[in-house]
Amino acid sequence: MSDSLPVCEIFSSIQGEGYLAGRRQIFIRLTECNLDCSYCDTDFSVKTYCQAESAPGSTEFEPIRQPVTLQTLLGLLANWTADMPGAHHSVSFTGGEPLLSADILALWFPAIRRILPIHLETNGTLHAALAQVVDHLDFISMDMKLPSTAGLSEQLWDMHRLFLHTASTTDVSVKIVVGDRTPAGEILHVCDLISKVNSSIPLFLQPMTLPGGECGISARHLLQLQAQAAQQLPDVRVIPQMHRLMGVL
Ligand code: SF4
Repeated sequence: MSDSLPVCEIFSSIQGEGYLAGRRQIFIRLTECNLDCSYCDTDFSVKTYCQAESAPGSTEFEPIRQPVTLQTLLGLLANWTADMPGAHHSVSFTGGEPLLSADILALWFPAIRRILPIHLETNGTLHAALAQVVDHLDFISMDMKLPSTAGLSEQLWDMHRLFLHTASTTDVSVKIVVGDRTPAGEILHVCDLISKVNSSIPLFLQPMTLPGGECGISARHLLQLQAQAAQQLPDVRVIPQMHRLMGVL
């Protein structure tokens, strides 16, 4: 089997969402997704070249021919961690949906993990693919897609339940994007699902960001939803997309 993958971008920045918010990571953005969320701003077109920062945090990019090999990626990670010892907390695989590439990631992760811990950002729907790689992961940030904000035609609750069961063998947290139309019933559904797996799993409420950049939920409604969740779970936090506030990638 090839050990190469199409990669959209490789860059160094501050994690702006969820459990690892504030940690500096090396982000590896993969190109495909199995969902079509209404608020998605990801460009899914597969480019001829992966864009990789020429130096970590430089915001200047240079092309790497696709598909990116494990050897190329390991060389880049080794250089960046040698140039900036201790600066990076972990490597974050994001998308798109990285688990669409689980076959290759199962080959990549053991070698990458010898350099830095691995964080997976996922839409939480592909539990069989997660089972292929979960033993190599240090952190999982799992989205649960709410009908009120993701605007998907399909209900994903059963997929999220199966996924969370598999993810619960490692350090998993759950993120939901909430907006003015998010009803209490959806929050209770999320809390019930988490409670049945492990009620100590942290839940992050992330205010929806509208296309113009404004917040898509009133403070009053946000606080109501937080209070409802906090009645069900001990670790509920509200964090907006901080990388937008910082103006980083
Ligand atoms: S899961 Fe993420 S990448 Fe995929 S469509 Fe939804 S927002 Fe976009």
